[in-house]
Amino acid sequence: MSEEKTLKEKITAISEHYSKVCQIKKTQEELCELFTEISAGMKINDSIVLPDNTWSEVADVIIMCAQIAMQHGKTDKVRQEIEYKVDRQIRRMRNDGRKES
Ligand SMILES: [Mg+2]
Repeated sequence: MSEEKTLKEKITAISEHYSKVCQIKKTQEELCELFTEISAGMKINDSIVLPDNTWSEVADVIIMCAQIAMQHGKTDKVRQEIEYKVDRQIRRMRNDGRKES
């Protein structure tokens, strides 16, 4: 693998190396690990503090979700869903007329 490859190319290479079943199991593991970190968040005064390892687990989950979308030929579908859901939420916020905390 050459050093000039983009992140997308590298994640694609990983997704092509492993089976769909293998990456679904790995995604389940990573989701559990992220769930554990998020659940360990502690409320201190008015602010929530997440464990330092949270960000490593966020990265793992993003990498695995990207791979399963690639393996199933659904990257465009996921992109469309993200745009739809973000736009819908922006509309709701505008209609709501107040900022949620
Ligand atoms: Mg992990």
